[in-house]
Amino acid sequence: MQFSKVIGQQQVKQSMVEAVANGRISHAQLFLGPEGNGALPLAIAYIQYLFCKNRTATDSCGTCSTCQNITKLSHPDLHFVFPLALSKEVEKSSDVFQKWKAAFMQNNYMSLTDWMNFLDAENKQPVIGVGESKDILHQLSMTSYEGSYKVMIVWMAEKLNLVAANKILKILEEPPDKTVFILITESTQLPVTILSRTQITKIPRLTEEEIAGALMQRNGQSKDVAQSIARSAEGNYRYAQVLLTENEDTQFFSKKFQDWMRICLRLDGDKLAEWIGSADSGISTIGREKQKQFLAFSMQIIRQGLLLGKFAVNIHASDADFLQKFSPYIPFENASLIIEEMNRAYHSIERNAHPKILFTSLSLRINGMLARPAMAKA
Ligand SMILES: [Zn+2]
Repeated sequence: MQFSKVIGQQQVKQSMVEAVANGRISHAQLFLGPEGNGALPLAIAYIQYLFCKNRTATDSCGTCSTCQNITKLSHPDLHFVFPLALSKEVEKSSDVFQKWKAAFMQNNYMSLTDWMNFLDAENKQPVIGVGESKDILHQLSMTSYEGSYKVMIVWMAEKLNLVAANKILKILEEPPDKTVFILITESTQLPVTILSRTQITKIPRLTEEEIAGALMQRNGQSKDVAQSIARSAEGNYRYAQVLLTENEDTQFFSKKFQDWMRICLRLDGDKLAEWIGSADSGISTIGREKQKQFLAFSMQIIRQGLLLGKFAVNIHASDADFLQKFSPYIPFENASLIIEEMNRAYHSIERNAHPKILFTSLSLRINGMLARPAMAKA
């Protein structure tokens, strides 16, 4: 992970570069700032810069074996501690390090919620427990492989339980030689004794421009979409990613809904088969969660557009426009029946109904409820 792969944070990067250049590496550092600021990738880029043998004035080389190992999170002198869903099998970070690494590789900007979802442990309390402290002592007591620093990055340090925090405190007070602790936290809810023994670096939220730029470069978004999402993202790149997915889903659902209504109206068998089964975007191929979201989207549009005659802000102008043109084909009294059918389908999906059969029969029933004015053109 080079600095150049971390979004924005120029000032922080600059002060890290200077600290390394001047050999002023504090052995206990605390990175403090809100979710989505990139503190974790930044910490890794910082350590890579510290370890790299061929660093330049601004960044690590990215290609030496040290850089490569750090980028793969497999450098023997770099250790990680993070919150867990504790169980008999999982007491310390090293028990699930491979999973955590996979989650981080999937998304360098993952949040604690992402990590718990990755573990399928949404409903458990994430904790850095006492099982961790022995492991930390053990790992730091070993000699460093490359004869230089040993680093322990504690991600989401506010999840340290009190016993674990006290053990870490002891290490912070009497650190083994050439040891660097980086505690990453989103809140100052840490024991004062820890706060007072660390050098605090504030990692601010990103600017709107930085997020918009990242959405264009990393996510291939147009300037318009990137700017509009960046305005709502509150400096949180992870939240920007969520908004982007929602935006893409909405566009997909919108097109899918409009195509569907046209196909239901004319009951074109070939088109219906494609709408349901096509490999890239067929409704039967997108997974149950998305299918449910799509039906919820369709019900919302019909309910708000036809029954209430008004559109909530989250319904796009193109859907409103479509419905206005399409509304002559949906008799008012049938609109609620169509919603009922969709709702039934929604619950059938939850009960694992076969998606191809379900959407075929639903389309047939909707066809039966659409009106056919003499010159149907929609
Ligand atoms: Zn290097």
